[in-house]
Amino acid sequence: MAFPLAGAGSLRPATDQDHPASSAGVRDQGCAGRRPRRRPDSCRARRHQAAGAGHAPREHRGRPQQSHLRAGMHAWQGWRMRVGELELCPVSDGSFVARPRYFDDDAHPGARPDVFDRDGAAWLPIGCFVIRIGDRVILVDAGLGPELQYLPDDMYLVGGQLLTGLRAVDVSPGEVSDIVCTHLHTDHVGWLFDQHADPVFAAATIWLGAKDWDHFVDGPGEMAAHIEAGFRRCAGTPRLRLLNQDTPVAEGVTAVMTPGHTPGHLSVMVESGGSRVLLLGDAITCPVQLEEPGWHSLGDIDPVLAERSRQRLCLWLADGRTIGVGAHFPELRPGHLATAEWQPVLSR
Ligand SMILES: [Zn+2]
Repeated sequence: MAFPLAGAGSLRPATDQDHPASSAGVRDQGCAGRRPRRRPDSCRARRHQAAGAGHAPREHRGRPQQSHLRAGMHAWQGWRMRVGELELCPVSDGSFVARPRYFDDDAHPGARPDVFDRDGAAWLPIGCFVIRIGDRVILVDAGLGPELQYLPDDMYLVGGQLLTGLRAVDVSPGEVSDIVCTHLHTDHVGWLFDQHADPVFAAATIWLGAKDWDHFVDGPGEMAAHIEAGFRRCAGTPRLRLLNQDTPVAEGVTAVMTPGHTPGHLSVMVESGGSRVLLLGDAITCPVQLEEPGWHSLGDIDPVLAERSRQRLCLWLADGRTIGVGAHFPELRPGHLATAEWQPVLSR
């Protein structure tokens, strides 16, 4: 497999020159839904060019360099959890730096100092999960890949850590038997295929919602060219499973329809021995949404349907025996709902 070492959107040290090029290189509105709301990225690029080399425009001040981003990725400790016969652990591909406007136009960072730092940034992971059951190794989501993606409103994502993270939990790419894509936004499919559209996980069957295929591969949703090409090569083969209803992936692992964030969004229910864990994808982007009335996700393609799916998930998360964790939950820490408040279940 080959990945770019330079060029728009690839992983490399950030410079002042990166921002306009990377903005132009954003090929998908991805995790953040990410319609520019203040001004188009092309306007940002023009502002930057007008500012001249070596002089960062005002919105660049305080932007962490790549070294800081990489350090931020390792600021949390992973965990392993036994769910009956299954084993579950998280792996983060990198960081998603979100800001209050991702959740609500009127949200103020001071309202939630537990989520947003003094610069108004929430340092969220780009989460993936590994489920081991018998001789199967199931990966839930495939990260952003070695990419740097700028979003409107000074938000951005940086990926590239998934394969390293898998090594740290003793998983080689060839061992992965299945990949469940909760949805096809860029930050969930980035490691599926390399730049030649060859599969990174050569033995894996890929499971995804059929309506996401319709929207992103066959329809108007944007997708990186090499990812789309990789998907098309899989079309019609046993390597690709397009789902239209709740479907068992393995004993104790079920893909559950939770549409709204994207048309075919899936969550993954892991259930064994009386324990249940929901892997929420981006159906709930951050638990703060569950505590702040009106906080939604900028990335929701159908906000009404997304809210309905969140309500369905909240019933499980409040039932006293189900915990859940989304792909961007702080520190990938699972929790549950108790008297309408989010309660993490793993101690720091
Ligand atoms: Zn996402």
